[in-house]
Amino acid sequence: MSTVTRFAPSPTGRLHVGNIRTALHNWMLAKKHGGRFLLRIDDTDRERSREDYVEAIRADLAWLGLEPEDEERQSDRFQLYQMQFDYLESEGRLYRCYETAQELELKRKVLLGRGLPPIYDRAALQLTEAEHRDFAARGIAPHWRFKLDRSAPIEWEDGIRGHQHFDPAQLSDPVVRRADGSWLYMLPSAIDDIEMGITDVLRGEDHVSNTALQIQMFTALGAQPPRFAHEALLVGNEGKLSKRLGSLGTDAFRERGIEPAALVALLARLGTSQPVEPIADRAALIDSFDLSTFGRAPARFDEAELERVNAGIVHQLTYDDVKTRLPEGMGEEAWLAIRPNLAHVGEAADWWQVVTGPIEEAEIPAEDRAYLAEAARLLSWSDDPWPALTGALKEATGRKGKPLFHPLRIALTGRDSGPDMKALLPLIGETEARTRLERAAAD
Ligand code: GLU
Repeated sequence: MSTVTRFAPSPTGRLHVGNIRTALHNWMLAKKHGGRFLLRIDDTDRERSREDYVEAIRADLAWLGLEPEDEERQSDRFQLYQMQFDYLESEGRLYRCYETAQELELKRKVLLGRGLPPIYDRAALQLTEAEHRDFAARGIAPHWRFKLDRSAPIEWEDGIRGHQHFDPAQLSDPVVRRADGSWLYMLPSAIDDIEMGITDVLRGEDHVSNTALQIQMFTALGAQPPRFAHEALLVGNEGKLSKRLGSLGTDAFRERGIEPAALVALLARLGTSQPVEPIADRAALIDSFDLSTFGRAPARFDEAELERVNAGIVHQLTYDDVKTRLPEGMGEEAWLAIRPNLAHVGEAADWWQVVTGPIEEAEIPAEDRAYLAEAARLLSWSDDPWPALTGALKEATGRKGKPLFHPLRIALTGRDSGPDMKALLPLIGETEARTRLERAAAD
């Protein structure tokens, strides 16, 4: 059976770095096994779901290069949920409840006060048909709970956490449907995973106890549960999922000049025992993806590390990758000359400005002026003018090392450091280079 994974965001906000990581890992897991990666829009909550968020999710996935093979929306699938709901009800796995939130809270408090776990007491199971009719006559509709099978432990081999074991007697029967008929997350998700043929559910460890409940739903619906794996949560430098991390999305990264490939390379390996490296080749990343390398400790998202990976990725981008983002007139040679100096593609424009001029006027120490005048005289043009110039200057002046090279860099670029002058000088051109050297000599 080929692997089918899904990413199931609720369109109640923009994706943040934690969701992006989940999407990426599901995508990689599917690709690694030649399978399919699906997008499921969890929009059962009609009030909080928004169409612009759905579109933003699609656009974010496209920007990251994680396009799904197919997309489903839960709001299109209510009929299916109703059908399965009816089946579960007929099997006696769903029951009607009427407790208000306050009543449930009170029950919880009483149990906790007695030092007992706050498990729902199944009081509603004792209601008679006459009592149900009485609620209906008073216009009180029931909400519905899924009745857990308490006859055997719930167990699974988690792809990351290893063997998992839950005692269903320690779990409350989950509410699956509200009194207004709307669906809670739990049951539709299990129904969809079955109907969409999902073979692997990979999600955050905040879903571990949901998995215990959903495994019983799969079984009650006559389906084999998929494989489950729960990854440790993402935390910021301060050691928790900060507000900042929870709102950090693709827009913020794009604005800061982070390449999607950098985010992918970092998130692919974060929280695993494999080194984070600026791997631009997706096939290589996919190939090395391995759930068994995932750790149980929270994965630390470090923005400085992202910047380092980004620079490493930028240094591998080809001219074709970036040409639409470069300033007018900047060609392949210029890109290749400047690229090693960039942390972000956007900085190429600064260096292109250095090439085309005008450059910032730098302070030239008096002792370098005659030297630069000599340089202007000795500048001769060829395919490779830099070694010719520095060779001639070395011979004429006896300078070597920094005193030989550094004043030239300052005079020619107005900056202290930057791309290799051997690559830069041909781009500046003979006339402009001579003018800059003469101007610096005259200062
Ligand atoms: N919509 C759910 C969430 O965002 C999906 C969880 C799941 O992957 O099953 O948490």
